[in-house]
Amino acid sequence: MSSLELNGRKISLKRGDITREEVDAIVNAANSSLLGGGGVDGAIHKAGGPEILQQCKEIKARQGGCPPGQAVITSGGKLKSAYVIHTVGPIWRGGSGNEAETLASAYRNSLALAEEFDLKSISFPSISTGAYGYPLEQAAEIAIKAVKEYCRKESGSIEAIYFVLFDQFTFDAYKQALQS
Ligand code: ADP
Repeated sequence: MSSLELNGRKISLKRGDITREEVDAIVNAANSSLLGGGGVDGAIHKAGGPEILQQCKEIKARQGGCPPGQAVITSGGKLKSAYVIHTVGPIWRGGSGNEAETLASAYRNSLALAEEFDLKSISFPSISTGAYGYPLEQAAEIAIKAVKEYCRKESGSIEAIYFVLFDQFTFDAYKQALQS
């Protein structure tokens, strides 16, 4: 584990499976349909059970899904985390389609939603760097910058932010970004 304390809040990096986290909310790298998919999305729905998908369907019926950069919240179902925050990262298309800003928004809006629910701890996966193809080093820099910015704020409920990274390659990229 690698960590950094900023303004009384702690950012920590670890390798692991996000579905096993015991935090107030885990973040899902969902797709706009909110109907589940592969990667971390599939793992979260599989571990959390049908209640999460049911709530996603209700949200979809109300607001037609979740656009890239936005976030929605459901319960954690059978997970040890009370909530799942579903956010949608950008699909990498070479960088000229505002991907960096969309990725930063996905982190910011997830944190804002956690704060709305007065949550104290949250775990993120590496959004967009799997199937969505975002270059890892750039994505790590954007992710770390967005959470550091949150931590510098005067007020806000979140005290602990984790990045739960599936493989060593991804962990190393986030470690590099955290240290720079
Ligand atoms: P995206 O579509 O946003 O790229 P993916 O799920 O394809 O999302 O990949 C995002 C990251 O999540 C990748 O680094 C992938 O290895 C990782 N990942 C997959 N399963 C898990 C899991 N259970 N816990 C944490 N990270 C995971």
